[in-house]
Amino acid sequence: MKKGKAYIIGAGPGDFELLTLKAKRIIENADCIVYDRLISNDILKLAKKSAELIYLGKQNTEGGLIQDEINQALVKKCLEGKNVARVKGGDPFVFGRGGEEIEALFKNEIEFEVIPGITSSISVPAYAGIPVTHRGLARSFHIFTGHTMENGKWHNFESIAKLEGTLIFLMGVKNLDLIVKDLIKYGKNSKTPVAIIEKGATKNQRVTVGNLENILELVEKNRITPPAITVIGEVVNLREIFKWFETENLAKKILVTRDRKQAVEMSENISKRGGIPVELPFIEIENLKIDLKDLEKYKAILFNSPNGVKAFFENIKDIRCLANIKIGAVGVKTKKILEKNRIVPDFIPNEYLVDKLAEEVVKYTNENDNILIVTSDISPCDIDKYNSLYKRNYEKVVAYNTKKLKVDRKKVHETLKDVDIITFLSSSTVEAFYESLDGDFFILGNKKIASIGPMTSETIRRLGMKVDYEAEKYTADGLLDVIFK
Ligand code: SAH
Repeated sequence: MKKGKAYIIGAGPGDFELLTLKAKRIIENADCIVYDRLISNDILKLAKKSAELIYLGKQNTEGGLIQDEINQALVKKCLEGKNVARVKGGDPFVFGRGGEEIEALFKNEIEFEVIPGITSSISVPAYAGIPVTHRGLARSFHIFTGHTMENGKWHNFESIAKLEGTLIFLMGVKNLDLIVKDLIKYGKNSKTPVAIIEKGATKNQRVTVGNLENILELVEKNRITPPAITVIGEVVNLREIFKWFETENLAKKILVTRDRKQAVEMSENISKRGGIPVELPFIEIENLKIDLKDLEKYKAILFNSPNGVKAFFENIKDIRCLANIKIGAVGVKTKKILEKNRIVPDFIPNEYLVDKLAEEVVKYTNENDNILIVTSDISPCDIDKYNSLYKRNYEKVVAYNTKKLKVDRKKVHETLKDVDIITFLSSSTVEAFYESLDGDFFILGNKKIASIGPMTSETIRRLGMKVDYEAEKYTADGLLDVIFK
């Protein structure tokens, strides 16, 4: 059998878009992908459907056993005839042990290619607004592993302390006390600025700035955790001016809970506004077969939602029967769908509520006129109330059902993990969400909840959640207006 080829790929740090075009092409075509914990999910999404994904993670690059396992996995898959993408964070040769993998491949006469990546050692400082060299401040930079060497051999800090360039430590959180102590001991100025950048180039990036003297205290205080990069040198001060990647203003991940078909447009609008849509439907819309034979008897037809319009036009045989009928649309979205069907509605109420729609039609009709409201199974449309209030004969037709979906709780948790804002466009989605979570609200943490309008907000509160955003215009777009204000 023909052996496959191995590609030792650097994927860059955190930000998915720092992947090279070459890496992208190879990952898209690979039969097997071997990756570790620094690889973002977006990269794995590039893989073709049939590709085998193998996670072989390790906490740092000093893990002897797991490295053998990785080497063996690469060799095995290539011998099976698969083209293997070995994807690593940053650059494969910067503390990436790409070399050892190549030795194993070489021994087995397996072809390979190396695709360099953007190493975190310079790009993570850049994402923190720290240039590793700068005219007049640093004429060199030096990259070290902060991990103790095997056999207890440690760096020669006597020489390192004398270096004038920027010092960069990867994997240095655990041994930071040793690093700081030795640098000071061998003569480095204790006021030398230090920055520690955690989870660089991701939306969770955090930068802690201090100096050799106080940095250990700050590490303790901020509970700094890997992956993190430590930068030591005057260039750290440039961050004051050069910082540009502010995580507070990063793209927000927004959960779209509406019906799968309707979600598409909302997701597109979220992307257009700079957010990241995440879809997890909690309802399903099902259009019904309805009888629209005697439409001529109505003086007005009121559409209470875009879906209602769609379901109505799926059922109507000849639209000429609408010629003399006044048409009301509950809001702009409904109006738009009507216009797609070549009907220009006569009116839209100021407030996008079915009650207002029923009230507004009074101006266009006379006492005892027949009025049809096209709506859904769960709409708050109350025809008895309208009949007695406005002295007309309201009737309603249910054009579609809204089916609540019970989503697997594990799936809800998984999806919610890095969502920032949850949107609800109807009470039924709130209820379905609630039922799927089974009252387990712990996961909500400080996620924000956004509601399309007062009725949905009421349901959210009734079920024990809080409303952080409420649309001023009761449409999906109106809600995004408020979120992105
Ligand atoms: N080959 C990689 C480095 C692997 S060693 C590269 O070239 O970037 C793993 C170390 O890299 C981590 O312990 C941390 O010090 C650093 N690192 C990698 N990605 C990082 C990130 N997004 N933010 C901060 N540090 C990162």
